[in-house]
Amino acid sequence: MQISEILDRINTAKSKAFRTDKIFFVGVSKNHSVDKIKFAENYIDFFGENRVQEAQNKILNYGPCKVSWRLIGHLQQNKARKAMEIFSSIDSLDSIELANKLNNLAIEFNKIMPVLIEVNTSGEINKSGITPENFYKLLDHVVTLENLKLNGLMTVGPLTDDDTKIHKSFELLRNLTEQARIKTGLELPIISMGMSDDFETAIYEGSTMIRIGTLLFGERDYKK
Ligand SMILES: *Cc1c(COP(=O)(O)O)cnc(C)c1O
Repeated sequence: MQISEILDRINTAKSKAFRTDKIFFVGVSKNHSVDKIKFAENYIDFFGENRVQEAQNKILNYGPCKVSWRLIGHLQQNKARKAMEIFSSIDSLDSIELANKLNNLAIEFNKIMPVLIEVNTSGEINKSGITPENFYKLLDHVVTLENLKLNGLMTVGPLTDDDTKIHKSFELLRNLTEQARIKTGLELPIISMGMSDDFETAIYEGSTMIRIGTLLFGERDYKK
């Protein structure tokens, strides 16, 4: 799809929700080559990758880039060091252990690492993210870690055509974010939700960051 069409659809979805605030656009470049994705840097706010190794190769290959790269896929502890080096944000923080690991690395690198907490709002067992039940425990812990900067929450909506379920999932993430703002006093501006098939619903439910792959870059060889 043409980028202009996607931007039109974003604007239409925003006006339906009476929104005029900024919605960040993450171009999800996983499984696509540098040649194929390069044009997008003029239109998007970030690239999103879900594997550390693939991202590292791509970023090296890419050369100077107008936007930074976010990790949106599950992070294994043994890849955490590399991830800290190449990503401007880890959007998939989903355990206390990983939070400790990232914080220790951030102390070592003498930097503050931006993160989002990923929540499994759909209840689908194959999805990553902390459960809503365990979210507050992770939240309470993350805010004590001085070298992590929590900027908000992230979720992947359910794989279904049932619109009600998709709304519920995104509504849950928005509610958790609002509760977390009250509990912590932090701004938590980022509610990262909405992909190619459900970004309009996500915008309706308050998303401030959408992650678009297929619509922007075409089908991937293998879906992830
Ligand atoms: C692949 C992926 C996306 C993009 O999905 P599309 O349906 O291709 O837009 C967004 N978020 C995450 C976490 C992903 O893994």
